[in-house]
Amino acid sequence: MCYFYAILALFLTMFGGSLMAHTETEQKVVILLGPPGSGKGTQAVRLTEDLGIPHISTGDLFRDNIRRGTELGMRAKGYIDAGKLGPDELVTDMLFDRLAQPDAAKGYLLDGYPRTLSQAETFDKYLNDLVKPIVINLKVSDEEVIKRIGGRLTCSKCGHVHNRHFSPPQAQGICDRCGGELIQRPDDKAEVVQERLKVYYEQTAPLIDYYSKKGVLHHVNGEGSQEEILSNLRSLTK
Ligand code: AMP
Repeated sequence: MCYFYAILALFLTMFGGSLMAHTETEQKVVILLGPPGSGKGTQAVRLTEDLGIPHISTGDLFRDNIRRGTELGMRAKGYIDAGKLGPDELVTDMLFDRLAQPDAAKGYLLDGYPRTLSQAETFDKYLNDLVKPIVINLKVSDEEVIKRIGGRLTCSKCGHVHNRHFSPPQAQGICDRCGGELIQRPDDKAEVVQERLKVYYEQTAPLIDYYSKKGVLHHVNGEGSQEEILSNLRSLTK
């Protein structure tokens, strides 16, 4: 009998890792890349409904912490309002806590993460070669970004996003979803948008090359109709 348990223990030590790895490769991990205002958030909502996985936006996680007045929110607020990136360790702790929630076990869509090469490397270590992410770059011109963000109205209560040009609220200044007050996010102000674009080109755009070299990158034109974009995203993630 002892002999049987010794063999079982040896078997689990040798193959337990690969059995777990097999289970974990079932996860679907989608990363949406693209400049601010490229429509990542809007598309992510519908795409994740179809895929049955959570939409995890690091920007939303930060804003939620700021609304709730947490210590993390207070530490991040200055960076966000100025259009700068929050410190890596804050983002990583916050994100990895979220990924440990049960609803993320079968996969998730990341919107706004990774945003720097160092975050991409950290995330690769986290995935540990067990999952091959599907990375999609939503391409949108700077002119379109500036127009879209300029019209954006965000609910101060639930975070839902309206747009003056494309999806105006039924009653002016009031969120259709929860009745909260619609505001312009401090970082959606014109001068801050310029800074966010600069940060995007300097720190996030290099990820296009990074994931392209890994052979996991796809491009989608983010300036077509919403339905057309969604249909392209669906075919890449099904
Ligand atoms: P977003 O809603 O994705 O545009 O993010 C809003 C702001 O949150 C960004 O301008 C950054 O200040 C901060 N932020 C979101 N995601 C990250 C990230 N992965 N790394 C650093 N800062 C981030």
